[in-house]
Amino acid sequence: MPDYQSWVSDPAFLVVVSGPSGVGKSSLCHAVCSSDSRVCYSVSATTRPIRPDEADGRDYLFVGPEEFAQMREAGELAEWAEVHAAWYGTPRRFLDEQMAAGRTVILDLDVQGGLAIKRAYPDAVLIFVLPPSLDVLERRLRGRRTDREDVVSRRIAAAPAEIEHAASYDYVVVNGEFEAAAARVRSIVTAERSRRERCYRPALPDSR
Ligand code: 5GP
Repeated sequence: MPDYQSWVSDPAFLVVVSGPSGVGKSSLCHAVCSSDSRVCYSVSATTRPIRPDEADGRDYLFVGPEEFAQMREAGELAEWAEVHAAWYGTPRRFLDEQMAAGRTVILDLDVQGGLAIKRAYPDAVLIFVLPPSLDVLERRLRGRRTDREDVVSRRIAAAPAEIEHAASYDYVVVNGEFEAAAARVRSIVTAERSRRERCYRPALPDSR
């Protein structure tokens, strides 16, 4: 019988959800968190203006450019990026505290953020969400009616280049029917919990 070093049934890890603007990333993240108490959402800091349906501290920490720069310089952000003419960043302490408490953290990040998280946390899982088509994406973004026309146009124009980054991700989920897409993301989280490297490490050979 080998001498097992350790095993865990519910490992904690990071799950990054990326995809073009309007594809439904944050709704998917919130759907997973609300059905699984071991998954929590990472609230990013951003310099972009708050939308009418958003709450400070729930959707984002809305900060000014100086405060954002201070957070970055103090090493408080695990990653940061300029996206669609605003700054966004992930508070590091929340990730580390939640994982230390055994929880999986789900992050809604652009592709720069996703790749930066993978460098800093190599066992992070990267999921790319695709729309059924670019036309559907455009209709969804225009239907949202929370952003100005120039903002919407900029986001639509950025989508094809963003989608090319799906090639660097671990999983792809097409968000056509929302509940089906949410079920896929939940299945990925469930499967990743049983990934051998996370749960079971054989004892190292005795080097004495
Ligand atoms: P929105 O302004 O529509 O909420 O988000 C714009 C983009 O910024 C989305 O692609 C979203 O995934 C990304 N984003 C949100 N928070 C962060 C973050 O902390 N870091 C990075 N790199 N991207 C973020």
